[in-house]
Amino acid sequence: MSPIFKCLLCRKDIERSKKTFWVKKGHLLCSTCLDNMDSDKKTGDNENFGKFRSICIN
Ligand SMILES: [Zn+2]
Repeated sequence: MSPIFKCLLCRKDIERSKKTFWVKKGHLLCSTCLDNMDSDKKTGDNENFGKFRSICIN
């Protein structure tokens, strides 16, 4: 059974492997927020948001 973490953005409970947790250094997002980030690429003029995205997505 995988441990449960909280999504950084919406605080939803998400199931991720510990390996993923360490790879992401604890910066975990649920699939919904990942999708939202992807769709926000066109309007990605927010510097902090872009920085955050680069931490969470690779
Ligand atoms: Zn989320």
